[in-house]
Amino acid sequence: MKNKSQSTGSSGERAFEGLAVGAGVAIGTIYRHDSHAVVQVRERRIPATKVRSEQHRVLEAAAEAAGRMEALQRQAKRMSGAAGEELGYILDAYQQMLGGSRLVRGVQKRIAEERINAEAAVMKEIGLMAEAFAAMEDPYLAARMADIREVGRRLVESLGKAVETGFENLPLNAVIVADELSPADTALLDPKRVAGLVTMLGGVESHTAIVARSLGLPAVVAAKDVLAAAENGAVIIVDGSTGAVVIDPSAQTLAKYRRKRAGYVKSQQSLKKLKAVPAVTRDGFRIGLQANIELPGDVDLALAAGAEGVGLFRSEFMFMNRSDLPSEEEQFVELSQAVKKMGGRTVTIRTLDVGADKLGDAFGLKPGPNPALGLRAIRFSLSRRKIMLIQLSAILRASAFGPVRILLPMVCIVDEVRQVRRMLTRLIAQLKRRGVKISDPPPPLGVMIEIPGAALAADALAAESDFFAIGTNDLTQYTLAIDRTDEQVAYLYNPLHPAVLRLIQFSAEAAMAARIPVSVCGEMAGDERMTPILLGFGITELSMSANSLPRVKKRILDLNLSAISGRVRRITSESDPARVKAVVEDLDKAS
Ligand code: PEP
Ligand code: MG
Repeated sequence: MKNKSQSTGSSGERAFEGLAVGAGVAIGTIYRHDSHAVVQVRERRIPATKVRSEQHRVLEAAAEAAGRMEALQRQAKRMSGAAGEELGYILDAYQQMLGGSRLVRGVQKRIAEERINAEAAVMKEIGLMAEAFAAMEDPYLAARMADIREVGRRLVESLGKAVETGFENLPLNAVIVADELSPADTALLDPKRVAGLVTMLGGVESHTAIVARSLGLPAVVAAKDVLAAAENGAVIIVDGSTGAVVIDPSAQTLAKYRRKRAGYVKSQQSLKKLKAVPAVTRDGFRIGLQANIELPGDVDLALAAGAEGVGLFRSEFMFMNRSDLPSEEEQFVELSQAVKKMGGRTVTIRTLDVGADKLGDAFGLKPGPNPALGLRAIRFSLSRRKIMLIQLSAILRASAFGPVRILLPMVCIVDEVRQVRRMLTRLIAQLKRRGVKISDPPPPLGVMIEIPGAALAADALAAESDFFAIGTNDLTQYTLAIDRTDEQVAYLYNPLHPAVLRLIQFSAEAAMAARIPVSVCGEMAGDERMTPILLGFGITELSMSANSLPRVKKRILDLNLSAISGRVRRITSESDPARVKAVVEDLDKAS
């Protein structure tokens, strides 16, 4: 995969290259998004009964922000000369704005009068003050506007970052061009208005890329320099299958990509015809194809693609883009709706997978020295039992409406599974005592194999788990020490590295020896070039974004598994990634 950019063409067209993330071609107009620009927040109406608590949140946030300012003051004092002095003045002014000032009083008044959430009230008040400053004759005072905005930003941050992305009024057929998009940003996008995405940062298996794929959006990440060339409203082409991006295309280029887009749409339509066809190889092996879902609405996409179940429900997406935690009732409503809609097909709900690039801020997680290796996923849930119990309770209650499985992310040691089992046993007894309906038998408890240590200890984990789901995205990241979100090392991200393949094979064999089901639910499952290998390892269940499902099904229908099994087994004895790649390409042609 290439990662470079270039400018060409006498017509004024400019071409860039990044990493291809989502298939298909988008031709649309540029909508620039700067993730570091002025904070925008979502306005919510609040009931009268919540006014006091909302006002109290403002006081607490102001005190917290002032505290952070004080720490900065101390730092400023240690600076020498004019810089320290100037910074000291500014921070002083900020602190004054935060302490019982016109700003805080104004925000509280607004909450009571307009009955809106604290974040929106802060931004409205800041807007008003900034306007008044801007109108002043004195240029020094007029320039204070930026300071006021900064105070507003800090206050909103202290309120818990209910920050909006500014995607609410997107023009139709917009192509978002951004420095980066957080998974939360991507989750807010309306696929009816957005034609595609281009970012300067990010890797192919970043969560942002995954959401883009599941929304069916052509996307390119790591397209260097693209933002500087992007003007709002200009025409842009995004080729999600090659990583090409063209701004202001010539008539010739436009025609070429229109043809390509039409070809893609046609092939998608013919794949749709496979919806009701079972995934059986030419030599009769039946494979279960399931969908990964991020948002409850994705259930419709999963069903439309012919998914036989949900192999991975990334529940953390229910916790995004809000300043409070969802209650048990809210979670129950969302989950039970998904379970009901799946109409008797199994729904595998993964418990909260937060930390690293997912939602760290919303939970007040202090980033440790290395967030990817820190308090995240199951480790986080076990350290905040209350949050976990609420989620488990909502999942158990949803299990009354159809088959549900519970999946634990980033399991590393057997004791983590045991702890959750104990929690579940107690919780089930409590719910039964209260007469709450749950499935009988209760949902199976499975683990994700996504840490190399877990893969190597898969036999021990298999003895304690009801099923395995192999998460190849994180497994690749941790095995090769490649941050999946970092475009600088994206060229090294390779699930075909022999080390990764050996760990997958080892985990699959441990599951089969213990007679527990095993699936692959990382992005590898949705790449039809990988299908022969995974099936050759004995894996019979694959879970992927709904968009990939028809392509993978087509590959399975064309595959003669018995003819390639021997060669697949030999793959793991190869130690050179380039050689593995060649064998995989060979497999692709062979069957
Ligand atoms: C994985 O790591 O492969 C996985 C499926 O989980 P996520 O992508 O949500 O981290
Ligand atoms: Mg993972």
